[in-house]
Amino acid sequence: MTAPHYSDVCEGCLALDRTRTVVPPANTTPNQHGLIADYLCHRCGHIWTCGWAEEAAA
Ligand SMILES: [Zn+2]
Repeated sequence: MTAPHYSDVCEGCLALDRTRTVVPPANTTPNQHGLIADYLCHRCGHIWTCGWAEEAAA
């Protein structure tokens, strides 16, 4: 699954200098609720994960 709409804003950059860096998922793992997305910000190096619920219409 390619999911560019699962892009997230890097909290590391927000904390650093209030820059809103939109980061696409580096990796996505489907689960029973939707998917887990892993992020790596290439600007500040912040790494995080986010869970997304699948839309019913998808
Ligand atoms: Zn960042």
